[in-house]
Amino acid sequence: MPAQIMKTWLCAIALVLGGRIHAGSEVLRPSDVVFMYSGSAQTYREYGATVLAWGGKPTPKSLAEAAGVTWFGSVGMVTEFSAYHNRFPERFEEGLCRDLDGHPVKVPWLTDHQSKGVPYWWCCTRQPLFRQFLRDRVVETIRAGAQGLHIDDHLGTAGGLWLGICFCDRCVDGFRAYLAGLSAADLDRLGIREPSSFNYRDEVRAWIAAGGGEAKRNATGHPLWRHWSIYQGRGAAAFMLELRELAARTAGRPIPVGANAGLLWPGHLTDYQALDLFTAETDHRAETRKPTDLPLVAYRLAESMGRPYAATASGGDWAFIKEHNLPGLVRCWIAFSYATGQRLMAPHRQWCHTSEKGTHWYDGPSERFAPLYRFVRDHAGWFDGYATRADVGVVFPYRSFAKNPHRWFELCNSLAAANVGYRLLVAGDETVDHPLKEAEIEAQGGSELGWGD
Ligand SMILES: [Zn+2]
Repeated sequence: MPAQIMKTWLCAIALVLGGRIHAGSEVLRPSDVVFMYSGSAQTYREYGATVLAWGGKPTPKSLAEAAGVTWFGSVGMVTEFSAYHNRFPERFEEGLCRDLDGHPVKVPWLTDHQSKGVPYWWCCTRQPLFRQFLRDRVVETIRAGAQGLHIDDHLGTAGGLWLGICFCDRCVDGFRAYLAGLSAADLDRLGIREPSSFNYRDEVRAWIAAGGGEAKRNATGHPLWRHWSIYQGRGAAAFMLELRELAARTAGRPIPVGANAGLLWPGHLTDYQALDLFTAETDHRAETRKPTDLPLVAYRLAESMGRPYAATASGGDWAFIKEHNLPGLVRCWIAFSYATGQRLMAPHRQWCHTSEKGTHWYDGPSERFAPLYRFVRDHAGWFDGYATRADVGVVFPYRSFAKNPHRWFELCNSLAAANVGYRLLVAGDETVDHPLKEAEIEAQGGSELGWGD
């Protein structure tokens, strides 16, 4: 294992020097056994469950089954189209994302789903009707007794940027205010004379049309797309802060908030200030049939942000595990996660997805998995109070990572392969408010590595 752990006091010195302890860092302990979906009391006992990080809206019965387990109720910004459609059967189209031509866009991994004959459309988190639906879902989840809140697809509209969305009127209007906040020099450089009348939808359409016989242009290649992405990312973060505050107000106390912020995906740190933990899908490259160091990058990123990470593998990973019956590989993932100070969620029931089979499920052999989790619970003192001992600190400019994540994966994995323990020192960008502080570098004892643009 590339990671090494040592006594608390060393870590405490490093963290204090870094000034990066977040109140939420105790939301999960290194010895916690985290469930993704709810189970029976017997299943919780079998694994030694302490936290349910991605549960639904609790019921008195499900809460009773989960006695002693901290319940995070989940609200989905993309997966709950059916509930939204049922809530607003006449008006639901008001809240849909729109592509450049004004058409709604299907959620790519839910194309096998429908709600009364209507496809699962991607909905816009800038649209008032959809925001109302999400707010109401947060309130009902907390009122039902959830002790924490989980948000799936937490970036909402911004999570669909790669699809070339969203060009609904709300999104286009809001971009004007963003542009108005740029300096005159920036606007001049971007060729924008009057932000208050700027219509990005028209602009991109004209740009694509002007492409003529060149290789086909698409919206994501437009010169202003970077600013459009910053605008959408900031909007997502602001809405998450709003939901966080709403949950706390509903409960009358602070409510810890997690999200499916898979940190190997660029852009998912945007709203970290609204989060206490990352409860996230994380690529484990099951198709290689070998353990991978890749999740370590996500684990170290989470540590750098002062928030714990509860991982699951990707839907494609679980589909591969199921198809080829590879519980031994899953056991490696579990052991690896705890050895690095984080945790893979107990794989008692996992979402699988392939383009051919769509959604299906993997119910792993608990007799192979549960003993590992019980080991952690039985030896909690071997995990809690310890943290990473890094040989080097890696200066990690987030903008460079967002531009080319694979380069960073290779760099970090090369350290892991050489058995060099590393810590990531994240330098934020326009969407991630996380300036790199001199004290963090000094705390590393001068052994930092720097790459980037
Ligand atoms: Zn929109």
